[in-house]
Amino acid sequence: MKPKIFLTRPIPEKALAMMEAECEVDIWHTSEILPPTAERLPGLDGLVTYSHEPVTAEMIASAPNLKVISNVGVGYNHIDAEAARAQGVAVGNTPGVLSETTADTTFAQLLAAARHLVPASIFVQEKRWTCYDPNIFHGFDVHHATLGIIGMGRIGYEVAKRALGFDMRVLYYKRTRREDWEAALGIEYASFDRLLEESDFITLHVPMTEETHHLIGKEEFQKMKPTAILVNIARGPVVDPAALYEALKNGEIARAALDVTDPEPIPMDDPLLTLDNALIFPHLGSSTLQTRTRMATMAAENLLAGLKGEPLPYSVFG
Ligand code: NAP
Repeated sequence: MKPKIFLTRPIPEKALAMMEAECEVDIWHTSEILPPTAERLPGLDGLVTYSHEPVTAEMIASAPNLKVISNVGVGYNHIDAEAARAQGVAVGNTPGVLSETTADTTFAQLLAAARHLVPASIFVQEKRWTCYDPNIFHGFDVHHATLGIIGMGRIGYEVAKRALGFDMRVLYYKRTRREDWEAALGIEYASFDRLLEESDFITLHVPMTEETHHLIGKEEFQKMKPTAILVNIARGPVVDPAALYEALKNGEIARAALDVTDPEPIPMDDPLLTLDNALIFPHLGSSTLQTRTRMATMAAENLLAGLKGEPLPYSVFG
């Protein structure tokens, strides 16, 4: 009997073939609604998740045969990993392989917000560009501006490297200082408050934890420059959405680019969608076919190891 696994979303062909060779595979093909993961769990040996569907302690307890949860993504805050560990269920993720792509996306979204790229393109597509006008869509210079990176890990490091190519001054904040990175890149450690006060652009790369929930809220926006641009490519709940709306509406900061929201997808009546200084993207951080395929392959390796009771090559427990 092959082990039974459930994929909460379709996965690139190469990874699917690896799984199908050894498992009985059930895939949730529709992206319209949340997959019925809880219903499937009691009969499963393995579960493959993406970043949206919560996998709670109750769900894990309902699955006596479950050996492994393999997440296609690095952030795993949607999985109760401690409950899984207590029940002897391995949990894997896909760190590192998406850092550069997510850093590229961070920069794309930062530039788009700084230089009005999305509304300017829509302006032309709507056939409203009738004569050259030197006074439209004035943006903010990115080169030689100060970038503040909050949560300087694998992705933050790659963002810093890209910023140096734009001759930016780079400040970073995390709980443990990395003097080796400061020496290697020529970047500067700053306290949380100094980073908020001095940065022209702030990018978020912390994991979603109890400590980082609403890390950026009313008080933090008040410390930022009125010209500041915030890029959240970490997780939606890292930013308090009500405070962000007020900050953007009242000019406490200039603009925001959000790769992630709380919840996802963002509800159609969310007030953030009424603002013309908020760019909102559908969680595109690692979204290239090459990277998503590499992530899926790592997830397949984790899954197959976990099903055999072997240590996962990429375990969230280290
Ligand atoms: P990582 O290497 O673990 O880096 C996270 C960094 O955050 C670490 O340097 C950590 O340093 C810092 N940190 C943790 N808690 C903090 C806190 N309370 N205050 C300040 N800094 C804190 O993770 P990564 O691979 O770069 O990924 C980061 C996150 O990005 C993931 O967890 C995921 O949620 C998100 N992500 C999003 C996308 C997307 O598509 N939008 C794609 C990939 C990843 P210290 O421990 O020293 O504080």
